[in-house]
Amino acid sequence: MYRLIIILVLLIILFYMIRRAVQDWRLKHASGALPGKDVMVQDPVCKVYIPVGAAVIEHVGGQRYYFCSEECARAFEQESSRAR
Ligand SMILES: [Zn+2]
Repeated sequence: MYRLIIILVLLIILFYMIRRAVQDWRLKHASGALPGKDVMVQDPVCKVYIPVGAAVIEHVGGQRYYFCSEECARAFEQESSRAR
């Protein structure tokens, strides 16, 4: 009787492990299907390179700029409004 319970528990653990592996695989597959997220862009303020997926996107004067943080985006906005 106890052996049956142990086998059942092991089967449940195995089931969860397989489900987890499938989810991980799906996640990797889904992120791979979205191109451009890993493309590196340069922050015009601090000259740092960031992946598009993690960048702060700001539209200034009809152009799209990528920043590493909100602070850099704000600094760039102030800089461009001062230049005008
Ligand atoms: Zn920056």
